[in-house]
Amino acid sequence: MKSNKDGNFSKGSLTPYGTFEISPAAAVLNYGQGLFEGLKAYRKEDGRIQLFRVEENANRMKMGAERLLMPSPSVEEFVNAVKQTVLANKRWVPPYGKGSLYIRPLLMGSGGVLGIGPAPECTFLIFTSPIGIWYKDGSKPKSLLIEDGLSRAAPGGTGGVKSITNYAPVFEAVNEAKAKGFTDVLFLDAATGKYIEEVSSCNVFIVKGNIISTPGIQGTILPGITRKSVIELALDFGYQVEERSIPVEDVIEADEVFCTGTAVGISPVSSITYKNKRAKYKTGAKSVSQKLCETLTGIQSGCIKDTKGWTVLVE
Ligand code: PMP
Repeated sequence: MKSNKDGNFSKGSLTPYGTFEISPAAAVLNYGQGLFEGLKAYRKEDGRIQLFRVEENANRMKMGAERLLMPSPSVEEFVNAVKQTVLANKRWVPPYGKGSLYIRPLLMGSGGVLGIGPAPECTFLIFTSPIGIWYKDGSKPKSLLIEDGLSRAAPGGTGGVKSITNYAPVFEAVNEAKAKGFTDVLFLDAATGKYIEEVSSCNVFIVKGNIISTPGIQGTILPGITRKSVIELALDFGYQVEERSIPVEDVIEADEVFCTGTAVGISPVSSITYKNKRAKYKTGAKSVSQKLCETLTGIQSGCIKDTKGWTVLVE
């Protein structure tokens, strides 16, 4: 779908997966005027296909589009486009319990501009890919390295939206951490370097006793849809949930740490290393993250009744 000069989008069309042409002067290529989203379609036990909180993705893209001065498809246009793309690819939605179809919507400044500024025309497109269960045992724990040099998002920047420009800057830190044997990097706030923010592509939570805490959304952290869902489920389970600034010391002393995101689901953290010191955390069957994970994945895959209106059938 392409936008016209009034910022409205044309009716889209379905085309086989492949390459597409774009002007070398496109704002997305030159100035990074681009956003993406990520969500999943799941096959239920009865064979029907459902999406998880797709309207949240539509709204997050809208918020990002405002920040990057792009028109965005309406929530209705976004949801319909996702549904149609999934229907056209329904043979790729894995059987119940065997994974999901990952859906990647993109919004980009596709029109050419030479002076620095927003594109005169934007393109919205969606592609999909079947994926297996992220971790075969559903809960392979992560070992994280707290990065105290490179940062991910600065105050006033674009860390709070899903801008494509947020991702290449984490490659270096993540590659270095992986080379040292860690799974991923936990970034600190760029302003003071004292508080944890998020992992390269997921939000983070710590558990201490009955209190579950996660960094508050203040413009430098992506408002994750899994994060939002986990907060609700944790409250339902009777935990106290705090959205606050979390100093590194609190992380070191936590009982449990876990990450949340569309791709990783709810993923336990077994250890965190900061300045050569390693803290270890509880994982496994009796952990809080495991309990939350079972409920969330149950709702997403349709084996637990969705009483929250989070899921939408595609047909
Ligand atoms: N933070 C970042 C930087 C991400 O890329 C993602 C993945 N979208 C998340 C958090 C988790 O967001 P969600 O739960 O909506 O997938």
